[in-house]
Amino acid sequence: MPGAATLLRDIFGYDAFRPGQEEIVDAVADGQNVLAIMPTGGGKSLCFQLPALMRDGVTVVISPLIALMRDQVRALREAGVEAGALTSGNTDEETAEVWQALEDGRLKLLYIAPERLAAGSAMGMLRRIGVSLIAVDEAHCVSQWGHDFRPDYLRIGALREALNVPIAAFTATADAETREEIVQKLFDGQPPQTFLHGFDRPNIHLAFGAKDNPRRQILEFAKARKGQSGIVYCGTRAKTETLARALGEAGHNACAYHGGMEAGDRRHVEGRFNTEDGLIVVATVAFGMGVDKPDIRWVAHADLPKSIEAYYQEIGRSGRDGAPAETLTLFGPDDIRLRRSQIDEGLAPPERRMADHGRLNALLGLAEALECRRATLLRYFGETEFTCGNCDLCDTPAETFDGTEAVRKALSAILRTEERFGAGHLIDILMGNATDKICARGHDALPTFGVGRDIDKRGWQGVFRQMMGHDLIRPDVERHGALCMTEAARPILRDEQGITLRRDTLVAKSNRPAVRA
Ligand code: ADP
Ligand code: ZN
Repeated sequence: MPGAATLLRDIFGYDAFRPGQEEIVDAVADGQNVLAIMPTGGGKSLCFQLPALMRDGVTVVISPLIALMRDQVRALREAGVEAGALTSGNTDEETAEVWQALEDGRLKLLYIAPERLAAGSAMGMLRRIGVSLIAVDEAHCVSQWGHDFRPDYLRIGALREALNVPIAAFTATADAETREEIVQKLFDGQPPQTFLHGFDRPNIHLAFGAKDNPRRQILEFAKARKGQSGIVYCGTRAKTETLARALGEAGHNACAYHGGMEAGDRRHVEGRFNTEDGLIVVATVAFGMGVDKPDIRWVAHADLPKSIEAYYQEIGRSGRDGAPAETLTLFGPDDIRLRRSQIDEGLAPPERRMADHGRLNALLGLAEALECRRATLLRYFGETEFTCGNCDLCDTPAETFDGTEAVRKALSAILRTEERFGAGHLIDILMGNATDKICARGHDALPTFGVGRDIDKRGWQGVFRQMMGHDLIRPDVERHGALCMTEAARPILRDEQGITLRRDTLVAKSNRPAVRA
């Protein structure tokens, strides 16, 4: 059976675990009794679906929400996983089909409504089919004092005893009384391994910086942290090598790591990193799984990660010991273009591509945030209780301006040139630069020519990048990255909606703004 990371990618199409998922998946796959408390939307279902694929036999999933069960079954089937549901919403045909799959030993996940457990026949059936795990969604429904009490949930304890298999219970309700009741009723009073997330990593300082001269920016960041263990993530293998060399020349103890290296060399780097103090590893995302070092003091991204989940996982490797850790994520228009085209040129089906664009948008929203990064990040993961004071925007509030007019001018330049040009040419039009290319195409005669002289080139680059970040414009892969307007931009163009933009602050040290654009 392939490992969790492979299944995560190949079956579920995700590039990284969300906070907390990996530990829970490991424990459940390992056959432990588990109680996991995660916020709604945090990604609970994966925590039993993935182990179900890693374990022999059938995983029985008990959930009170019929619509949700049917949804999950459909999604699993689309991903090629044998799953079925026994609920009151079934047609006779569907039920017969599920039974058949069970008889054939094909089914990996059987979703079942709690009231089904009342029928003696269900118990007999479950005993026969080789159940290896019971997953209980909305486990707080077992609590008689809660609003969602489901008497049938009280039968789950007996089911566990009859089948003698582990239980993985999930809920978003974290109060101590409910938890205690779950332990009593589902686990017969034997405390399971409990996960309470808690996505916030308050000791990690969060910072983003507009890419200016990435090599210099990373060198400055590393210089201020000389002698500390750190990771620099890069988008390409070649870059890991050049950047590692540059860091070495600047007197750091640094080495490269990427998937193209010999397995032995990679293990050597991992070993050095885990045991040596103050080593910097400049790596692609291939670096991480084998890393278990509690005192990584910093993580920098020389290129924008793939998604908000990947970002969280990568920065989350720092500061596992709880002591202060710092991060810096650089991003620029080329990153956005690259990430978009990777999604568009990938082989994933259209819905998945749309979801991937959505997850990239979430990361870009974080990169262009106007207020506290932690608030933006944790809100995405469904968590609302936290304090920050430990991000670049809490350190130094963003300087913002009403960008509506600038955006409208830029959109107009895009539309008047029929969405056929990239940012460089469009900025020349806006700034009234009569270059050869501009004159050859007659763009110096456009009404938009020179309307943006009030903003300098740097400023316009920031505007275009933020427009990409807000998904108002997208590069067209088929036309060499020519910028096109999206539907999201229409209300701004029509003057129905305004937009606030930030003035770019080039962050040299994560807590001290250095250069102003
Ligand atoms: P809940 O915790 O509320 O049951 P779900 O399991 O339905 O949440 O997951 C919420 C959303 O998060 C879903 O849209 C799912 O596709 C997405 N999701 C879950 N795990 C990941 C991951 N590792 N990477 C990206 N998206 C994920
Ligand atoms: Zn903050």
